[in-house]
Amino acid sequence: MEQFHFPYLQSLKSQLPEQIQELVSAAETAAANTDPSRPRLTVGAALLTENENVITASSQVNAINPEGVCAERAVLYALNNHNEREKIKSIAITYAGKVSNEKPIAPCGACRQALLETQIAQNSPISIYMCSPDGRTIMIEDVSFLLPFAFIQHEGPVSATAVEE
Ligand SMILES: [Zn+2]
Repeated sequence: MEQFHFPYLQSLKSQLPEQIQELVSAAETAAANTDPSRPRLTVGAALLTENENVITASSQVNAINPEGVCAERAVLYALNNHNEREKIKSIAITYAGKVSNEKPIAPCGACRQALLETQIAQNSPISIYMCSPDGRTIMIEDVSFLLPFAFIQHEGPVSATAVEE
């Protein structure tokens, strides 16, 4: 049996480089800025671009259930509106709400796909910092590790190349 292996780093926010700590703080602010009366959990995401810009977004809920959007995709859309060709170096995600604040949060499947497609389009890796409100962090250097056997349109329906390269 073949097995997937990829590196990841568990640490605390306080142990991260200063610029990344600021990125995580921006994601925390975005998570806290959503209406606390509505959802049980709100997610914040922050992008660090190649020009050192930080762009944030929070998860968006809607009374019609499937019409909301996750923070990760919201921030990718925000980047498209902000500066169409700026590459992303890193993304930080975290959450706030009436839940345990110990476990780092990971992107849903749809957001993994969106992040991977963005990485392929920009042709340089995006590192992801998955954080908890109490400062626990899991860092992965390349978002393709989050989605083995990804669906990649130009390569056909099944491809393991993203993780084997
Ligand atoms: Zn998502």
